[in-house]
Amino acid sequence: MRITCVGGGPAGLYFAIAARALDPGHEITVLERRPPGSTYGWGIVYWDDLLEGVRRVDPPTARAIRAGSIRWPGQQVAVQGRPPVHLGGTGYGMSRRRLIDVLTTRAVQLGVDVRFEHDVDDLPSGGADLVVLADGANSRLRRARAAAFGTTERLGGNRHIWLGSTEPFDHFTFAFERTAAGWIWCHGYRYQPDASTVIVECSGATWEALGFDAMDDDDCLAGLERIFARHLGGHRLRNRTDDQGGRSAWTAFPTVTNAHWYDGPTVLIGDSAHTSHFSIGSGTRLAFQDAAALARALRRCPPAHLTGALQAYEDLRRPAVLAVQDAAGCSAGWFEHVDEHMRLPDLEFGLSLRLRRTVPPGEEIDVTWMPATLHRLTQWRLGRTARRVVSTSRRGVEQHRRPRATTAVPPPARTAEPLDTAPSAGSGGRADR
Ligand SMILES: Cc1cc2nc3c(=O)[nH]c(=O)nc-3n(C[C@H](O)[C@H](O)[C@H](O)COP(=O)(O)OP(=O)(O)OC[C@H]3O[C@@H](n4cnc5c(N)ncnc54)[C@H](O)[C@@H]3O)c2cc1C
Repeated sequence: MRITCVGGGPAGLYFAIAARALDPGHEITVLERRPPGSTYGWGIVYWDDLLEGVRRVDPPTARAIRAGSIRWPGQQVAVQGRPPVHLGGTGYGMSRRRLIDVLTTRAVQLGVDVRFEHDVDDLPSGGADLVVLADGANSRLRRARAAAFGTTERLGGNRHIWLGSTEPFDHFTFAFERTAAGWIWCHGYRYQPDASTVIVECSGATWEALGFDAMDDDDCLAGLERIFARHLGGHRLRNRTDDQGGRSAWTAFPTVTNAHWYDGPTVLIGDSAHTSHFSIGSGTRLAFQDAAALARALRRCPPAHLTGALQAYEDLRRPAVLAVQDAAGCSAGWFEHVDEHMRLPDLEFGLSLRLRRTVPPGEEIDVTWMPATLHRLTQWRLGRTARRVVSTSRRGVEQHRRPRATTAVPPPARTAEPLDTAPSAGSGGRADR
């Protein structure tokens, strides 16, 4: 099949890799508007389930991603310099730029035609059997067909900015600081030995009252460095200053949903199909899972069976994505009600943060003895180690039990690959942020 993919982010590049790895008969072109080696954002977090899914599709990609990542040993929450509350969990951090480099290199090795500095204005013509829209949350091409896809876009109430720092955060850290204009916090985590991501977030009212809506970049960074000084250990905050990509700006998170994921021979994957609030760190995993599911549905698929394959892809991915979007909505809502949670003592505040994915905004968290006891144990080093061991074993068992493929449109000629299903929201020992 001849496939044109618009967007060379994680979704587009990994789709190209998976499609070629599973069916070398596909001819795939990826059109990316940025130059090589550039991207937006800093580091991302992910967990073992991402690596495991990639390993099943293309082991060299999984190895390269793991080699480019670092592991952070747990999460903690610090409120105004008081002793941190530990939340447990462990995960990986990786530079987005490195991830894009790894994926580009592998896609080219597999024979994908990756073309940079191709800003696509309209659906590419030129004889493709399928156009994959992997052009991100603000997809121009999806918006032009919003009625056909049944797109909704809803902006969250908080503002955030995605920054970097040379401060190597030991743990994944949620740091909350009170200002005269209200609470402001950062999500800080290391993604390479000498660099961390720092996503700063606050309510829209606090953002305006602190003047960030009208401040230039340098003043904004200087102001944030003062607010988070005790967490930055003298290191600076960074926005882009080189050719690695565009500078980050304050923004409200857009939640994107689509009633239909394909329209004729045009299909949505990754952020162009759906977004999930960054506070659960799942968007890249979902993009990878979409990409693998679409590649499997298209394996050995003649153009005449395309509609069936796209429907199978949508049927498989929609429920998994909706579950994660629900959890992300709860998490985003928790951060929109920080003032209320701040009335809790630090230990309970930390537990409430830990459980935020499971409780819709405005509802009380009903804490049973099990998570409460685990949370108390997590405050001791030994408890954290035990928790990590249990979580790792449980993940191993879950991965072992994961179902084998049942999607076969058209029936594959070889043994089907295992499906790359998303873990249920808030599942297992996965830490989230
Ligand atoms: C602050 C923040 C923090 C995040 N942290 C995490 C995290 O820790 N872990 C995680 O898993 N996820 C995280 N995410 C989500 C993650 O970044 C996205 O879900 C993921 O990048 C989606 O991949 P994608 O390929 O679908 O879209 P993108 O990464 O947005 O890629 C889209 C690509 O399409 C290109 N493009 C767009 N329009 C065109 C066009 N017209 N022509 C050609 N090319 C085009 C763009 O240049 C871009 O390269 C975070 C998001 C935010 C906002």
